Amino acid sequence: MIYLDNAATSPVRRAVLERMWPYLTEEFGNPSSTHEYGRQAALALTHARERVARVLGCRAAEVVFTSGGTESDNLAIIGVSLATPRGRHIVTTPIEHEAVIESCSYLQRQHGFEVTMVDVDTDGLVDADELGRALRPDTTLVSVMYANNEVGTVQPIRRIAALAGAVGARMHTDAVQAAGWLPLDVAALGVDALAISGHKLGAPKGIGALYLRRGMSVEATLHGGGQERGRRSGTENVPGAVGLAEALELAEAARPGSADRIAELRNAFIDRVLAEVPGARLTGHHRLRLPANASFCFPGTSGEAVLLDLERRGIICSSGSACAAGSDEPSHVLVAMGLDAELAQTAVRFTLSETTTADDLAATVAALADSVAGLSGHPSAAS
Ligand code: PLP
Repeated sequence: MIYLDNAATSPVRRAVLERMWPYLTEEFGNPSSTHEYGRQAALALTHARERVARVLGCRAAEVVFTSGGTESDNLAIIGVSLATPRGRHIVTTPIEHEAVIESCSYLQRQHGFEVTMVDVDTDGLVDADELGRALRPDTTLVSVMYANNEVGTVQPIRRIAALAGAVGARMHTDAVQAAGWLPLDVAALGVDALAISGHKLGAPKGIGALYLRRGMSVEATLHGGGQERGRRSGTENVPGAVGLAEALELAEAARPGSADRIAELRNAFIDRVLAEVPGARLTGHHRLRLPANASFCFPGTSGEAVLLDLERRGIICSSGSACAAGSDEPSHVLVAMGLDAELAQTAVRFTLSETTTADDLAATVAALADSVAGLSGHPSAAS
C-alpha cells in the first residue's frame, strides 16, 4: 500500500515508541505521587515539557499538555475568551478545523459571543487587511489556522498576529498541520496561543500541546486535580508527552532538509497530475502551501469514488479531510473558497510524509489518471 493520507494521521515513529516504552512499562508512575515512581514520572514530564518548549521557543511553564489538537483548540478559544473580560467578540475564518469553528459556535450559543468570519480568497488565503478591518475594541480573540488541513494553504500569521496585538486582542493559531513543516517559534510568529497534535507528527493519538503565553489568564475546560498548573486537570499522559517531545524534536531537526525535498517531490507530482489526469484542478495556493499537501478536484467524478477506486489499486488518500470523509456534505473549506458544491464533492487530497518516494508518486499518477478517466468518462491523457 502507498499511504498518502499523512494529514489525517501518521504512524508512530520507532524512535518515538522506544522513548515512550519505559514510561508504559517499568516507569509507570503517576507524576502527582510523591514516591519514587511518581518522582520519575514527574521528571520525565518536566523533560518532555522542556523539549517541546525549546522547539516552540517558549518557557516550559507556557506548555500545557492536552489530549490533542481538538482539546488544545478548545482550551485556547474557550479558555482564553472566557477569562478575558474585555469583550465578547471573536474573529476567525470559515476554513478553520471543526475544533475551532465549534468552539467559537459554543461561545456564541452559550456565552453570547459574537463571531466574525473573515472571508478567504479562491486559494484559501485570508486577506490580512480585511481581517484588520474586522477587529474591534471589544475583540477578545483572533483564531486563524497556520496552515489548512484540506488544501494546505499557509496563512500570514505574523501579520495577522501583529494586527490583533495592535488592538489588544489575543491571537491563537491552530498549528496542527504546520508542525513539522513550518517554523513554530511563537515569539517570531507573535502569537499568544498555538495548538499542536502528536499523531500528525509520528507520536501517538491522544497527546497534544498548547502554548499559552505567560501571564495570560485561561479558564480551564477540564476540572479536577489541578494538574498542568490548574489549566488542564487529569493525570498527565506521561508516555504521550515523552513521545510528543521526541517526535517534535525529530521533525524539527529534519525540517530544514525534508521540507524542501518533499516540496520538490510534491511539486513534480502536482505538475504530472495536472498534465496527465483528465480535467484535474489544483485546490489551494500554488506557492503558499504545506510542502506535503497536494489537493485537487476531478470534475465529473465523486471524490469518494476516486478514493475507493485508488484504495483498490493500493493507494490510500482522502476525499477532503478525514472528518468530512463519509459525509455527503461538501467540504466547508472548499465552499468557503468559492467552489460550487458539485465541484467540491470531487475533491481528493494526497498528503506525503518524509518516507514518500518518487516511485510512490509515479504509481499514484498512473493509477489516478486511469481511475479518473474511468469514473468521469474523460479519455485519459495516456490513452
Ligand atoms: N486542527 C487541524 C488543522 C487538524 O487537521 C486536526 C486534525 O485533523 C485537528 C485540529 C484536531 O486534532 P486532533 O485529531 O489531535 O484532535
